[in-house]
Amino acid sequence: MIKIAFFDTKPYDQQSFDSLLDSNEMKIKYFSYKLDEDNASVAKGYDVVCAFVNDNLQENVINILADEGIKIIAMRCAGYNNVDFKAAYKKIHVVRVPAYSPYAVAEHAFTLLTTLNRKTHKAYNRTRENNFNLNGLTGFDLHGKTIGIIGTGRIGCILAKIALGYGMNIIAYDNYPKEIEYIKYVTFDELLSQSDIISLHCPLTSETHHIINKKAIAKMKDSVAIINTSRGGLIDAQALIDGLKSRKIGLAGLDVYEEEANYFFEDLSNEVLEDDILARLLSFNNVLITSHQAFLTKEALSNIAKTTLKNIQDFFSEGPLENEICYQCAKKGKKECNHDLNKRCF
Ligand code: NAD
Repeated sequence: MIKIAFFDTKPYDQQSFDSLLDSNEMKIKYFSYKLDEDNASVAKGYDVVCAFVNDNLQENVINILADEGIKIIAMRCAGYNNVDFKAAYKKIHVVRVPAYSPYAVAEHAFTLLTTLNRKTHKAYNRTRENNFNLNGLTGFDLHGKTIGIIGTGRIGCILAKIALGYGMNIIAYDNYPKEIEYIKYVTFDELLSQSDIISLHCPLTSETHHIINKKAIAKMKDSVAIINTSRGGLIDAQALIDGLKSRKIGLAGLDVYEEEANYFFEDLSNEVLEDDILARLLSFNNVLITSHQAFLTKEALSNIAKTTLKNIQDFFSEGPLENEICYQCAKKGKKECNHDLNKRCF
């Protein structure tokens, strides 16, 4: 029997995993709290840790998990910026779900844009109060506008297709450009200066940390719309606030925030919000924040559970691990990694 310690559980996670679980083969203990240094030792007696985007998988936690006999960390997400791969290398295998529904995230990015632009969230509140006035609800046609996509991987490419349907011009910046007839690749600075809307779809790495900062914002068009469904650390939030105050930034749709770990996914409606930057962002009437919900569709939840359970099965059946990622292949070069040879990374 494979025993899985499942951290940061929400009801929708439990539902999707329980519906697919073969209880003769695997047993899951659901913990509602996030994994951190203080609680990592509860993993003693389990074989697998299943973790999500805001669980702490830094060196000290990895060492505790290794000492407690954890053999594999199954990330039930695509991004892995919260994992210290160097610490895990040759101690614990790490697998993830590289794609569960890129449509879910791209569609949410577009939802943030269209809601902010056409102010449907404001109209909803107004009409419920019998206020049928239209003042202040003016948007702009997306048709003919230029959207700049940073990162044209799975999600960025789907967003490009959606934008194409709206009749938008699509420009993009990616260090590995693809050949797609309706996407024009430009330099980072050209993207900043030519886009009416900028949407972020690259991973968070040391290279992309604060890629949207004071200098980048200064190069953007006046009233630019910024959409971030990727990772909070891509944007310097203080620079974003300054850009909103100076009216350089006209709209900001954020599904992620650099310091989200203590807030997002939780009901804090009876608490005092201590993060002044988040509180300031929430105070702007041209900012829309959702709490990392871009992935949250039925299809995505089902795919996440399916792939995570398969990743775990593959590990225990000793075969190759299709969705493994390690210290070597998470960085460029893959010199000492066996993954491309259809083997485990180490
Ligand atoms: P992907 O790996 O398919 O695509 C990422 C793209 O970014 C690649 O084309 C890559 O070449 C490009 N890239 C890497 N470094 C870059 C750089 N320095 N500058 C420009 N481009 C760069 O990933 P994906 O599946 O499209 O996911 C993108 C991101 O979305 C993930 O990294 C994750 O952080 C985020 N995400 C968010 C949610 C959510 O619920 N909000 C859900 C899933 C994924």
